Amino acid sequence: MNEAIDCERLAGDVVAGDRAALARAITLVESSRPDHRGLAEDLLARLLPRTGGAIRLGLSGAPGVGKSTLIEHLGLRLIARGHRLAVLAVDPSSPITGGSILGDKTRMAELARSPGAFIRPSPSGGQLGGVARHTAEAILLTEAAGFDIVIVETVGIGQSEVAVAGLVDLFVLLLAPAAGDQLQGIKKGVIELADLLVVTKADGGLAGAASEALAEYRAALGLLGPAAAGRRAQALSCSALTGTGLEELWQAIEHARAARQESGAWQGRRAEQAGLLLAAEIGAALLSEFRADARIAAAYPEVQIQLSEGKLTPSEAARRLLALRAPK
Ligand code: GDP
Repeated sequence: MNEAIDCERLAGDVVAGDRAALARAITLVESSRPDHRGLAEDLLARLLPRTGGAIRLGLSGAPGVGKSTLIEHLGLRLIARGHRLAVLAVDPSSPITGGSILGDKTRMAELARSPGAFIRPSPSGGQLGGVARHTAEAILLTEAAGFDIVIVETVGIGQSEVAVAGLVDLFVLLLAPAAGDQLQGIKKGVIELADLLVVTKADGGLAGAASEALAEYRAALGLLGPAAAGRRAQALSCSALTGTGLEELWQAIEHARAARQESGAWQGRRAEQAGLLLAAEIGAALLSEFRADARIAAAYPEVQIQLSEGKLTPSEAARRLLALRAPK
């Protein structure tokens, strides 16, 4: 992306639904170049009035649980009904696994060919803070391009779910059809983030295990205590392969939306998310300003050594560095 970027034109092309333009716009907001950040903000400001209209869904689950198969089959049904679906795949583990979860081109192959779909890996930039900003902005861009359903997919390894749950209206957690001890292995925290628990592969030889697992998750949800206001998690099962339960899954999503829009919880959650993103942006900006201060930059390595040798506590180390700030 070295050619001059014309934000007015790019914004127009995004609004016109030009996917190549949308892809370029997402690349722009993901760029770490300072001049690109200015352009990205210009672009987003132009598009902001056209954003906010989509159902924003988080979808997570362990590798192999059936995320891509479900997204493909549910997505094709929704597109056949006139919806437009954007899938943003977030993979903060890519530095470890050495590739994006969408590296495999065969994932969601049919959906990828559909004119009603837009599929895009959303690299994290190596840090979790990057997930939040890049993905939040990518969601806005897909909305401006006319996508009315956005699925943010994560691999289900823990931290990324928390970041993604802070960006979406509803968080869907996919669970394998394995009952009994398996339940213990699922982190309680991740279940608490979820608005919908979906047991996958409820078909053929796995149907029995799936219905047992569903009963256990329903019982477990009952034990979590009263749900937070406006948030009542639900457990379902489905089979992406046979289509069983896909309609019920979508209806559960639509019902949750209608109920929360009615109660104001939908808008409340978005407002709260925007507030947290604002605080994160301020925190990141202050931290980078702080680190750029010459006196602090000079003292930082020594303080870090003392910290790692256990000669300072983190709070004392922070106080020392903060005391070096240039007076304003
Ligand atoms: P992901 O890693 O979570 O994206 O999982 P995939 O969607 O790639 O699915 C992993 C494996 O489970 C593949 O072999 C799929 O064919 C299989 N699978 C996915 N959905 C279903 C389903 O509904 N029923 C059955 N029986 N197998 C499924």
